[in-house]
Amino acid sequence: MEKGKLLYDGKAKQVYATDKEDEIIMHYKDDATAGNGVKHDQFAGKGVLNHTISGIIFDMLTEAGIKTHLIKKLDDRDDLVKKVKIFPLEVIIRNITTGSFCKRTGCPEGLVLDEPIFEISYKNDEYGDPLINEDHAVAMKLCTREEYAKIKEETLKINALLKEFFLSLNLKLVDFKIEFGKTADGEILLADEISPDSCRLWDVNTNQKYDKDVFRQDIGDLIETYKAVLARMEKK
Ligand code: 5GP
Repeated sequence: MEKGKLLYDGKAKQVYATDKEDEIIMHYKDDATAGNGVKHDQFAGKGVLNHTISGIIFDMLTEAGIKTHLIKKLDDRDDLVKKVKIFPLEVIIRNITTGSFCKRTGCPEGLVLDEPIFEISYKNDEYGDPLINEDHAVAMKLCTREEYAKIKEETLKINALLKEFFLSLNLKLVDFKIEFGKTADGEILLADEISPDSCRLWDVNTNQKYDKDVFRQDIGDLIETYKAVLARMEKK
């Protein structure tokens, strides 16, 4: 599959056209950003690591019946994926309190929640991805009420599957962000990636961080951390 025109150059990925109208190529870059792009660096090999990790997770979710955009892996950085219109929503689940939730509410860090918190943010860098609710999303025509319900239902299923998956690696799934898109036929698919860039993962015994917080907070080596996550997956 030949890479066509560059359609989108994002913070951590690029998207290219293919010779098929309904298929595109998603390419993983080595860039890491935090704080809405304020902090930016490059880590040789990060794209390959996230691509591999996300591929294993998407395969696991597909086997469990989750519909995703992934068609096939092309090489160590590129996936062939179904073309979707991404909902401009960051869909977030929190299982343990930390991050922006604690900053916003004053809630103590590290509380294990009885039920997952489902949140959405409006994906908009200019406004700092503000937290919104269902009514806002519908009023702003970011999705319909039916699409919101489907996204929430799928996200809760994905959370249950991911929590179990990471627990088998001795990692707690603290929280994560996912994105959904819609095909030309109206099918809603899980899109983007699931990796230590988009999840918070804490070691079950030590609470050591195995995710992008090591970069956000300058508390460790990002590449060694992501390699350690992949090593746990490959040992499974
Ligand atoms: P928080 O809202 O606490 O900053 O983040 C909640 C979860 O969503 C974390 O797992 C974080 O990694 C993920 N997340 C939030 N915003 C983004 C984003 O813009 N990009 C990525 N990759 N993940 C995000």
